[in-house]
Amino acid sequence: MRGNSLETGHRIKRGRMNSPMKFDFSEKPAVQRVKVLFPLPLFKAYDYLAPTEDAPAPGSFVRAPFGPREIVGVVWPEPADASVPVEKLKAIADVIDAPPLAAGMVDFIAWAARYTMFPAGSVLRMTMRSGDGLSAPRAQTGYVRTGDAPARLTPQRQSVLDAAGADPRTAADLAAAAGVSDGVVRGLSRAGALRAVEIDPDPPFDPPDLDANGPDLSEDQQYAADGLTAPIREGRHQALLIDGVTGSGKTEVYLEAVAAALARDETVQALILIPEIALTAPFLKRVEERFNAAPAPWHSEMTSAARRRTWRRVAEGQARLVVGARSALFLPFPNLKLIVVDEEHDGAYKQEDGVIYHARDLAVARGARAGFPVILASATPSLESVVNIDEGRYGAVGLPSRFADAAMPDIGLVDMREDPPEAGAWLSPSLVAEVNANLSAGEQSLLFLNRRGYAPLTLCRRCGHKMTAPDSDTMLVEHRFENRLVCHHTGFSMEKPEACPNCNAVGSLSPCGPGIERVAEEARERWPDAAIGVLSSDTAPGARAVREILASMGDGEIDILIATQIAAKGHHFPDLTLVGVVDADLGLAGGDLRAAERTYQLLAQVTGRAGRAEKPGRALLQTYQPDAAVFQALKNCDRNAFLAAEAEGRKRAGFPPYGRLAAILLRGRNEPALHDAARALRAAAPAGDGIEVLGPARAPIYRLRGEARMRFLVKARRDVSIQAYLDDWLPKVKMPASVRRVVDIDPYSFL
Ligand SMILES: [Zn+2]
Repeated sequence: MRGNSLETGHRIKRGRMNSPMKFDFSEKPAVQRVKVLFPLPLFKAYDYLAPTEDAPAPGSFVRAPFGPREIVGVVWPEPADASVPVEKLKAIADVIDAPPLAAGMVDFIAWAARYTMFPAGSVLRMTMRSGDGLSAPRAQTGYVRTGDAPARLTPQRQSVLDAAGADPRTAADLAAAAGVSDGVVRGLSRAGALRAVEIDPDPPFDPPDLDANGPDLSEDQQYAADGLTAPIREGRHQALLIDGVTGSGKTEVYLEAVAAALARDETVQALILIPEIALTAPFLKRVEERFNAAPAPWHSEMTSAARRRTWRRVAEGQARLVVGARSALFLPFPNLKLIVVDEEHDGAYKQEDGVIYHARDLAVARGARAGFPVILASATPSLESVVNIDEGRYGAVGLPSRFADAAMPDIGLVDMREDPPEAGAWLSPSLVAEVNANLSAGEQSLLFLNRRGYAPLTLCRRCGHKMTAPDSDTMLVEHRFENRLVCHHTGFSMEKPEACPNCNAVGSLSPCGPGIERVAEEARERWPDAAIGVLSSDTAPGARAVREILASMGDGEIDILIATQIAAKGHHFPDLTLVGVVDADLGLAGGDLRAAERTYQLLAQVTGRAGRAEKPGRALLQTYQPDAAVFQALKNCDRNAFLAAEAEGRKRAGFPPYGRLAAILLRGRNEPALHDAARALRAAAPAGDGIEVLGPARAPIYRLRGEARMRFLVKARRDVSIQAYLDDWLPKVKMPASVRRVVDIDPYSFL
């Protein structure tokens, strides 16, 4: 092991030689114990020694020996544990050159770990995903044009000179832009046409100009903005919902709150969370226009260098406004004073992998603990937020009318029992007639179906065999474009076989039901002269492809767009006047407790795409259950009646937000061991006042990726700490090595 057991009075071996700060214990050391938390699945921090004189402050990033290696962790402000004798402790190797985590951040990490019941080290790991931000900055060499022409000018050299501008770019960057090798760039430098300059690998973000392009707010919007800025000016916590229909100008209004927060002093930082990475680029542009400065972005599609820049600049307090996906909540802000959660109802805020958490709920908790306001924005707020307002925990500001007086779309229901499509088709005669009318009027239509691929089920006509994934109890979805059968849960895919694997009949496998590729096929047959676009994550892989299709839709180059929910949010299509929902019932099937709520939110959002400019819009929902409360509410534009009915049902069942839920999933390949463990866990469940343990039961998808899965659902009264109950219960049963146990507080997925 690489060094550092501390022997009093002796020199100890060092960690890395190039680290910026060293402890020297060669004189009589005065040492103290400090706790270090590592970004590993560990519930506790460990004791180390540090010199009392130079003891790293709580929150400092330090390198310390752990097992056979040295790992970077964080000095954790917990009282040291005196039970381990000093002689047994190792010393911290060195302190990393990065700003220490602020006390508020450390507090948030510790709290989030307790709340989610994940190890504190796992939560810390989310904060330390820095894209190399914990290594010291390495200056890079960039090149700028000198203005002198080289003696010899080849076409390759010319393309490099064309790519080079006033801002320095690296040789690799220039070479890639010009499509030549690095050598051409260096040759131009030797020839005097380019000059080498040092460039900052993490260039600072431009400071936001708060008065740059203040919007022209309507009276309603100004009133809402004033409501949002009051707690900011007073510097107190308040969760506030800004509730306004699509197109009512919510963004302009909450950007005023952001401006008010940033205006408090020059160190204040603000964070805007958005749910969808595909929307980041247009949204960033909008924020940039408002403040005349690009905000710092944060999402999973960024390069490591871009992540590093944002991470370091946030940690230094230099990046004052961050726009990011849910994980931006764990960036190391030293002075965060406002969080905005846009589209707060969106399911994408729930992280289901690794540490399971809901970013909206954690954002509110963060603001409450640190004493700053949190703004939630939505056209279709979650029932949780609505109840929080009704019960006085959250404040609310409304934006009743659509900006610029655009009318809300007219929503009609197509009863598919009365008005069915022809055999083999998916669009009802009424919907077809509306699309025809739109084509004649030169207006755009959107056909919405939230299902990727060609057909959700492939069935053998001869023996009835359903094509399922080999290692999962999931149906394979045909993707005809790629001629593959795909599992949407695990990503497994296979070529579509010629013969049924069960009865060997050739050519008997038939698609059942529509995915968007199949609706596109029908549309192309019906409207051969129309420009038809198809938009889903398969047909347009990557944020850029999505943007391109959305841009051509926005420019009016597409007559009919056939899309999944990727097109539901945040886009402005001025000539879109008809939205047809191919299967409105889709989200209600196999429903969990939020199925109707999610259906309402999604359909309200997608139908809200119609008629956002001067032209009025209309929407048609194809359904086999037109009397369902959710469709009646959409048709009658009566959100409150729907929410009241939903709330009543949840209250009766003791479900959130009127009660608490936790899901416990046990999974493993050894089925007998799994079932034994589930039974043992059940038997150990203590009786608790206001607590009900349901299960174990087979998960709806029992086999997934080769593992069998058993579920418990724990229901608690709202005044009962579900975490305290689980802390008491779960340690009573040690899981066998083959069984993994995952706790999900406030579950959203029940599969
Ligand atoms: Zn068959």
